Amino acid sequence: MNSLANHPDFVAVTTMTWQQHVKAAVRSAAHLRRLLDLPPNRETDLVGERQFATFAPLPFVSRMRPRDEYDPLLRQVLPTPEEGQSAAGYSNDPNRESQCVSAPGVLQKYPGRILLIAAKSCAVNCRYCFRRAFPYEAAPTSLAEWNEALAALKNDASIHEVVLSGGEPLINEDHRLAWLIDRIEQFPHVRRLRIHSRFPIVIPQRVTESLIQTLSRTRMPITFVVHSNHAQELGDDVGQAMAALGSVPRLVLLNQSVLLKGINDSVQALANLSWRLLELGVIPYYLHQLDRVTGSHHFEVSLDQGRSLVSKLRATLPGYAVPRFVTEIPELPSKQILL
Ligand code: SF4
Repeated sequence: MNSLANHPDFVAVTTMTWQQHVKAAVRSAAHLRRLLDLPPNRETDLVGERQFATFAPLPFVSRMRPRDEYDPLLRQVLPTPEEGQSAAGYSNDPNRESQCVSAPGVLQKYPGRILLIAAKSCAVNCRYCFRRAFPYEAAPTSLAEWNEALAALKNDASIHEVVLSGGEPLINEDHRLAWLIDRIEQFPHVRRLRIHSRFPIVIPQRVTESLIQTLSRTRMPITFVVHSNHAQELGDDVGQAMAALGSVPRLVLLNQSVLLKGINDSVQALANLSWRLLELGVIPYYLHQLDRVTGSHHFEVSLDQGRSLVSKLRATLPGYAVPRFVTEIPELPSKQILL
């Protein structure tokens, strides 16, 4: 693959810590274009950037192809002028999550499980993100602020699973994460932990020895859900991170993707993604229909086309390699399986 990985500016990428990568991430479309040897496009970039900041970590950028405006990784992080347009049926809160807040930083969308907004930011800003306008200001930041969320959890014995989500839960340092997991597992009714993270894909250096120790210590079985949309995201460094996560006892590794126009809307792209995930020990679990968040309409693939792609995928791959094609409908008590 002709990527930036061998470029002199990227030599240090593999030796930097994850914290250094968060600090060094590309924070403007103009910088991204320079790195990729693309012509500047200040006016159009700024339209999208005014809606949602650019944030792309170097390990992810290093897997992009230079001089290719249509690179499937670049398209996930480069702002575009369409983001400034409104579209019918799109809103800032497409899943009506603001109506699911049961305590500061706690969302309860489905029975038996709650979602903790464990951080206010991410390791990458995905242009299609359904939480791109989420009011993160209300989410807890200090350990003391977590106590309200934990008290809500303590008092509700119907909750069997806690989902750490975000923002990006792994943006917390390991000692904070260990503190939070220790507190959660003190509640005997909580039997399972789920972690949703894009870190192992975009900054695989985040999967440190101390993170593995923290995850290995808990009594709770862990479902670890990564988020990858294209096989090109899954380099050897990601493979090492997955192998380390796979060494945690009773941890299941799943992937969720979003079906995105111009990125993975072909049978070949979806098949390549499934095979590469399986090579890395990750089950291709969900393929999401795009949530209709304002500024993302240009990524939408029609439901008919999505169903057609997934049925062709099913005709080509064994069942275990075909993700469930799903969508979220706010009024309904679970995700809806489209195919
Ligand atoms: S990592 Fe997830 S929550 Fe963060 S911007 Fe991307 S899609 Fe949104």
